Amino acid sequence: MSSTLRFQIVGEAFTKRPVEVPNRKDRPSEFFAKYVFNRQKMSKYLPADIYKKMCDVIDGDAALDMATADAVAAGMKKWAMELGATHCTHWFQPLTEGTAEKHDGFVEHNGKGGLIEEFTGKQLVQQEPDASSFPSGGIRSTFEARGYSAWDPTSPVFVIGDTLMIPTIFISYTGEALDYKAPLKKSLKAVDKAATAVARYFYPDVRKVVSNLGWEQEYFLVDEGLYTARPDLLMTGRTLLGHNSAKNQQMDDHYFGSIPMRVASFMKDLEIQALELGIPCKTRHNEVAPNQYELAPIFEETNLAVDHNMLLMGLMKKVARKHGFRCLLHEKPFAGINGSGKHCNWSLATDTGVLLHGLGKTPLDNLRFVTFIVESLMAVYRHNGLLKASIISATNVHRLGAAEAPPAIVSSFLGKQLSDLLEHLETSTDDEIINLTGKQTLTLDIPQIPELTQDNTDRNRTSPFAFTGNRFEFRAVGSQQNCAAAMIVLNTAMAEALTDFKTRVDVLISEGTEPMKAILRTLREDIKTCKPIRFDGNGYSDEWKQEAARRGLDTETSAPLILDQYLTPETVEMFSRMNVLTKAELEARNDIKLDTYTKKVQIEARIFGDICMNHIIPIATRYQTQLVDNVQKMKAILPADEAEKLNRTNLTLIKQMGEHNTFIIENVERLIEARRIANRIKDSRERAIAYHDTVAPLIEQIRYHVDHLELIVDDELWPLPKYREMLFIH
Ligand code: ADP
Ligand code: MG
Repeated sequence: MSSTLRFQIVGEAFTKRPVEVPNRKDRPSEFFAKYVFNRQKMSKYLPADIYKKMCDVIDGDAALDMATADAVAAGMKKWAMELGATHCTHWFQPLTEGTAEKHDGFVEHNGKGGLIEEFTGKQLVQQEPDASSFPSGGIRSTFEARGYSAWDPTSPVFVIGDTLMIPTIFISYTGEALDYKAPLKKSLKAVDKAATAVARYFYPDVRKVVSNLGWEQEYFLVDEGLYTARPDLLMTGRTLLGHNSAKNQQMDDHYFGSIPMRVASFMKDLEIQALELGIPCKTRHNEVAPNQYELAPIFEETNLAVDHNMLLMGLMKKVARKHGFRCLLHEKPFAGINGSGKHCNWSLATDTGVLLHGLGKTPLDNLRFVTFIVESLMAVYRHNGLLKASIISATNVHRLGAAEAPPAIVSSFLGKQLSDLLEHLETSTDDEIINLTGKQTLTLDIPQIPELTQDNTDRNRTSPFAFTGNRFEFRAVGSQQNCAAAMIVLNTAMAEALTDFKTRVDVLISEGTEPMKAILRTLREDIKTCKPIRFDGNGYSDEWKQEAARRGLDTETSAPLILDQYLTPETVEMFSRMNVLTKAELEARNDIKLDTYTKKVQIEARIFGDICMNHIIPIATRYQTQLVDNVQKMKAILPADEAEKLNRTNLTLIKQMGEHNTFIIENVERLIEARRIANRIKDSRERAIAYHDTVAPLIEQIRYHVDHLELIVDDELWPLPKYREMLFIH
């Protein structure tokens, strides 16, 4: 790109007007889930007996037989064709990022030389995508049998454009999970089983416990023209160079500020399309960094919420382009300002109410509340390292640990009221707490738990796992990640904690301890055990790092080493006991994660080297030559002493540029060499470690010099859009 082209692109971006958004007269409640085959559509398009069978399948007690599947497919086809669908696809979540699909037309030969529209139960239930090039971590090499995708009836099918989309799990022929959804569903089953058993101590009628997830999706918008002029954004999703803009977020004027018109029009369009797909969008606002925004829906059952998040991320990118933007989902697109996360609000609820809700009507409610809080803490305490591993990636590492996002140590913030309550329980005796005054009346001396404030002032923004009234908010999840990775760990760990809790309580009961006393005693033990995970202080401070290490929490910061947590004996034991992932699956997944890490850093290093050598050095040298030319001409026209005096500043700049250029050129060489050495390493873990230790740091070191050249070189020559242009034009 020539420098005049940069001005042209900036100018065009600056004068862009908002794209018109269809001004709908109907209300969201009327067009919500228009393109979703939900229960309402099922009851309309399916025979009554088939509808009932489907409800039983969805609610979890019945298996799906082929005759039912055929009948469901027939109704689905009719509905989808009325919406203009001509194709269908299984839609799944492979271990790469994003989702995968392969479309098939509804067409079959009719035996008379023509075609008919056909869609059978078999097509609905199972597909065999040629999946040999999806990563499987060695579980299924390319010459072996294919994997297959199988319908997940608990997540409704939907229509996008001309295609009927069918949410599926993706597994190998030998049954190993090759995706996120299969283990997620297993973890949800595990937590349902364990939590239902514990909830019945308090409410014997509980039939089912669901895990809920409410995610908050952060993102940046950048003008499309500026985006395409940045090879680093194009290839890696983040800027690998660029000096801070003089003004960035220091005025705190973007957060909750008024939404720029072009952005508002994008948001409206996005929300309409998302609502039509059944995503219950609720909240939108400006985020802290310039050009950063957030969208949050109403929480949903976790499996559905994950699908909706994956769907929304795809939709965001698509709709952004229509509005002349690119949507950046990278966790840290710009250095020096906030990155993007995806807070995951998590809770468990029975078919009758939320289990983490603190507003107890009875002492029993309060004990139930404390039980589920303490066991959540036990889960997070036991697997704090693994929870961190579930959200670590080559991109999220740039966000974690900086003073804007959760620190790279998982701990939990409960707030004063709840902490006090746990202290009280820990130190008091059974008899102090339980006062049995007759068969019917059981009094628990647990101070009445007031409705826990959901007030922002009571929040600790530095805590990765904070209690916020009726849920925990896991804040370390990265903006572009599939939340399933974190939800698999969290729900499985919770299932394990509750299972162990129940085993111990039942032993006490079988020995003759009164049930409530047995629960209290076990809780008291657990409150002591998991104490190290509770931390209400400043998670960014250096003292906390030392203190956390003393408490035995995981303080590792190197991404490849954090991933080791997936293979520790405790992790393997937990996942296999809870029947979620086998050791072979864990090994395969880790291999993929390590390989993905390496490839991401590798791509960054390559494109960064290119930009340095093809864009930056040539321009810096050109400007340096202009200065040299000027110095010589000054010498020619002025008396020597005067020329010397006036040339002094330019000579300094020439020298500075020479130093920056030399550093860049020499270290790009080193960067290439470091890659070469790392690439020769066969073992995926060792290779990722080499990339982490030798390649990634060099990028940062070189960047410093590039960013300083940006401050010196003539603005008219500078080849790439600058931070102030990308962040303040909308
Ligand atoms: P914040 O103040 O944390 O930014 P938001 O309103 O942006 O809050 O998002 C909060 C998210 O938490 C929403 O998706 C909301 O539906 C969800 N949420 C609320 N209650 C629960 C709950 N009990 N379980 C799970 N998610 C919940
Ligand atoms: Mg939040």
